[in-house]
Amino acid sequence: MNIHEHQAKAVLKEFGVAVPRGYPAFTVEEAVKAAEQLGGPVFVVKSQIHAGGRGKGRFEGLGPEAKGGVRVVKSADEVKANAAEMLGRVLVTHQTGPAGKQVNRLYIEEGAAIAKEFYLSLLVDRETSRVSVVTSTEGGMDIEDVAHSTPEKIVTFSIDPATGVWPHHGLTLAQALGLKGDLQKQASKLLGQLYQAFMAKDMSMLEINPLIVTAPSDEEVAQLRVLDAKVSFDSNALYRHPEIKELRDESEEDPKEIEASKHDLSYIALDGSIGCMVNGAGLAMATMDIIKLYGAEPANFLDVGGGATKEKVTEAFKIITADPNVKGILVNIFGGIARCDILAEGVIAAVKETGLSVPLVVRLEGTNAQLGKDIINKSGLNVIAANDLSDGAEKIVKAVQGAR
Ligand code: GDP
Ligand code: MN
Repeated sequence: MNIHEHQAKAVLKEFGVAVPRGYPAFTVEEAVKAAEQLGGPVFVVKSQIHAGGRGKGRFEGLGPEAKGGVRVVKSADEVKANAAEMLGRVLVTHQTGPAGKQVNRLYIEEGAAIAKEFYLSLLVDRETSRVSVVTSTEGGMDIEDVAHSTPEKIVTFSIDPATGVWPHHGLTLAQALGLKGDLQKQASKLLGQLYQAFMAKDMSMLEINPLIVTAPSDEEVAQLRVLDAKVSFDSNALYRHPEIKELRDESEEDPKEIEASKHDLSYIALDGSIGCMVNGAGLAMATMDIIKLYGAEPANFLDVGGGATKEKVTEAFKIITADPNVKGILVNIFGGIARCDILAEGVIAAVKETGLSVPLVVRLEGTNAQLGKDIINKSGLNVIAANDLSDGAEKIVKAVQGAR
C-alpha cells in the first residue's frame, strides 16, 4: 500500500526525522490558512498524488509554459493563486501514464534553500534477506536514469535485521555522499531513524529524493533535510498497523482492485485484452506467460485463492467483465483443495448472473476434473472447454483474434 508524501513525512517525523514544516490542504482556503501558519518567506505548493516526477509534470489544460506539480512561491497570495490552479486539475508525469492523475490535495510546506540534492532509499532485498540502502550524490532526478548513465554514482549496502544499524553503516552513507563533520553525524543519525521507521512500520520501500543539504544563512549550520518522501508498506503486515491502514487513499487506486480486495481476491489490472481467472499466484503467473506466448496480452492478474467459492468466482467474473478492454476470458483452475465440479458450477452461475458478451475458455484440472467438464459442456452456455493450459491459451487467443 502506498501513501501520500505528507503522510510519509508525518510517519517519519514520529521517528525524529527532520522534515520541513507543512500542512495538507484539500481546498484553496486550507492552502491559504497553511501559508499563514507557516509564515514564509518561501512556500512550496506540492501536488499530492501517488506518483513521482511531479516537479517535471504538466497539468492538463494549462499551456506548456505553466509550472509543474511542485511550485516554489514567495507569498500567501501566490500560494492561493497556485492552489486554485492546481486543485482538481489532472497532472501528467512520466509515472502516471498519459491519463494522468487528478490532484485532490496539496501539501503546503515551508521552502528550503538547497545547497545539494542527494538520493537515499531503503528497500527489502529478498536475495540477501536484508534491508538494502541505496544512495547517490545525484539527487532530484530519476534514480533509474542515474543507474543507466552513471551507475558508479550509486552506492548500495545492506543492513542485517539481526544486528540492525551499526556506526560503520552511517559512515558508509556519509562517505558515499561526501559528508564530513556535523553533516556526517546527521547522516548517521538519519540512517538510524529511517531504519527504525522502516522496520517498525513494516515498510517495503522508503525513498527520499531529494535528501538535501540546506544552504544556511550566516548564523546557521547546514542541515540534512528530507524534502520528498515516498513510502510503500507490506500489505500483508497492515493488520499490525491500523494507524497506517487509515492513511489509505482509495481515490488513488484502481476501483476494480479495491472491489477485488473487499472479496479477498488478488487482482491487478493490466493493459491487455484477455481476462484471466485463476487459482493460485504461481498458476496465474504461468497463465499470463502462456497467453503472451500465444501472441496476446493479459488484461489482469487475478488469483481467486485456494478456497474459491461460488460467490468469489461470481465476484471475480464481475470484476473482469467490468473492464472494457477485456475481449475474452480464460478460466484456468486447478482443483487441489477446491473441487472442479464446485468451481464449474460457480463459473456457470457467475456467467448466468453477469451475462457474457465475450468468448470464454475454461480449463479445469485436478480433483473431479471430468465432472467439472461435464457440467460445463451440459450447461448450454457458449463456453469453450480446454484440455490443458496451452490448449486453453491457444483457444482463447484464437477466439479473441477471430472476433476482431
Ligand atoms: P517529485 O518531482 O514528485 O519527485 O517531487 P519533489 O518533492 O522531489 O519535488 C521536485 C523538486 O522540487 C525537488 O527535486 C526540488 O528540486 C524542488 N523542491 C521541492 N521542495 C523545494 C524547496 O523547499 N525549495 C526549493 N528551492 N526547491 C524545492
Ligand atoms: Mn522527488
